[in-house]
Amino acid sequence: MARYIGAVCRLCRREGEKLFLKGDKCYTDKCPFAKRPTLPGQRGKFGQPSRVRVKDYGIRLREKQKLRTIYGVMEHQFRKYFNIARRMPGRAGENLLQLLERRLDNIVYRLGFAPSRKSARQLVRHGHFLVNGRKTDIPSYILHQGDVVQVMEKSKKLEIIHEMLKKRGRIIELSWLQLDKAHLEGRLLSMPTREEIPITINENFVVEFYSR
Ligand code: SF4
Repeated sequence: MARYIGAVCRLCRREGEKLFLKGDKCYTDKCPFAKRPTLPGQRGKFGQPSRVRVKDYGIRLREKQKLRTIYGVMEHQFRKYFNIARRMPGRAGENLLQLLERRLDNIVYRLGFAPSRKSARQLVRHGHFLVNGRKTDIPSYILHQGDVVQVMEKSKKLEIIHEMLKKRGRIIELSWLQLDKAHLEGRLLSMPTREEIPITINENFVVEFYSR
């Protein structure tokens, strides 16, 4: 499947905020956005008058792109999620976020087995995880309430996983996700509500973007 292969940090500069796409580097002073918080290709800093006025469409487009970038989902798949979310009962924006959070790569990241969603995706693809006892190497696999994610027996010595678990102070504890550190497994306890999803995004703008 097609993937963005350009400079990742450029995406943070494009959205004007840290999106934490690179794992460890994002938390150090090596973060390029912290050093130079400017739009790519422009010299002015944020907050300075710009010749380009962002209109309503642009604001909604950027919010959609930001959400897509955070979860590392390509446009056609993202739109599929939106169409599913729209047909589900409840609010489309919240449903969309919930679907993205329930992706296996995101759950692996949230449990703290990987430093970023990108590296979680790679670990999943390389077959290091079981879902409900079955080997699952599809990063977009959607988990359901009660599902258990385990590190494969042969992968339990992976340095990246142990390094990450040592740094758990950085991980946000989530009430809907339970980690059993001793057995290297996690459980999706419940469907996350909007308030339980730690992400600064206006999902209504995303809904409005696709509903225009
Ligand atoms: Fe974004 Fe992380 Fe790169 Fe900083 S280091 S610009 S937060 S991806």
